[in-house]
Amino acid sequence: MSSEYIETKAIRTQIERSQFLEHSSPLYLTSSYIFDDAEDMRASFADEKKRNIYSRYSNPNTSEFVEKVCLMEGAERGYAFASGMSAVFSTFAALLNAGDHILSCRSIFGSTQTLFNNILPKWNISTSYFKIEESDLIENVIQTNTKVIYAESPTNPAVDILDLQRIGDLAKKHNLLFIIDNCFATPYLQQPIKFGADLVIHSATKLMDGQGRVLGGVTVGTEDLIQKIYLFSRNTGPALSPFNAWVLSKSLETLPVRVDRHCDSALKIATFLETHENVNFVKYPFLKSHPQYELAKQQMKLGGSIIAFEIKGGIEAGRQFLNSIKLLSLSANLGDTRSIVTHPASTTHAKIPESIRLETGITAGLIRISVGLEHPEDIIKDLKQALET
Ligand SMILES: *Cc1c(COP(=O)(O)O)cnc(C)c1O
Repeated sequence: MSSEYIETKAIRTQIERSQFLEHSSPLYLTSSYIFDDAEDMRASFADEKKRNIYSRYSNPNTSEFVEKVCLMEGAERGYAFASGMSAVFSTFAALLNAGDHILSCRSIFGSTQTLFNNILPKWNISTSYFKIEESDLIENVIQTNTKVIYAESPTNPAVDILDLQRIGDLAKKHNLLFIIDNCFATPYLQQPIKFGADLVIHSATKLMDGQGRVLGGVTVGTEDLIQKIYLFSRNTGPALSPFNAWVLSKSLETLPVRVDRHCDSALKIATFLETHENVNFVKYPFLKSHPQYELAKQQMKLGGSIIAFEIKGGIEAGRQFLNSIKLLSLSANLGDTRSIVTHPASTTHAKIPESIRLETGITAGLIRISVGLEHPEDIIKDLKQALET
């Protein structure tokens, strides 16, 4: 039975049962698959049959995970990777040629920025950046060799919101691929394909796993683009392990209820932070004070699990705040059951020149919280005592 609801899709999408009639999908730890005879083997290798050949190409657990993400995102097809970064890298490596140009939002995940700045240039693929405020002016910076517009929304770590429909329309008008990293929102909160995205990438390590256990990544989109990514990947080997695929597919069953709670707690905590005298400002998409509040309401179901706020007193106050935290974890991950706090200016983004940091909203006192599933009152209590130390 098919359903229009994402909750049901996430639970009732399942690979065929084995002869044991198990209720929950088993784990298929196998690197290869057998053939009935010479003709079966020939036809399989000739791509005349859709079947598993080798787990670098496909595996039942990986297929189940990918199928769920496709249904949740409204995509035709996908391929699953060992990590979010292997999804990002393989997507670009499969689709771009030497001489091509990427137009990317300035605020993107750190390793993606390193890929664009230091790695893709080895193959003469260049990138230029636009700021959130300039997304209306993208047309002015499109080059004759531009192939892709790339963005994340909400952005990391400043939680800005991009107008996906507007960028999607511009991409279509100029015949460019529009690729979105939808990791912060998850398909439960936002489905970029509705706004014109050709491909959607996820680090499944974050909210899809949601419990800080495994790495994974996935790219979903149109049949023709995924076919290119599939052929690239089946020969270069960034495949997701069956075990991680099994974990991630189980995790997707609870994604909607988990994300509901993450967002509910995040809004409570953001509202608390806004009233605190040692806080200059709070950025959370579903707070009325967020500069793109109306846009966030249009394109997202809820505000997400990430809050950014600026503590009074700059770098030193930020470091002091981290040192005073008792319950929350100091960690680089996000989208975990355990709440996590980071101070980008002195840690994850310390190597980036200050002028560029400020362009992406990373002020000296900016703190990022990934709101977990502990009771929100405990999270508020910890933040309050750290703000007052
Ligand atoms: C974590 C993250 C990635 C990279 O994913 P890994 O699974 O760590 O490789 C990419 N994009 C965003 C937005 C992320 O948060």
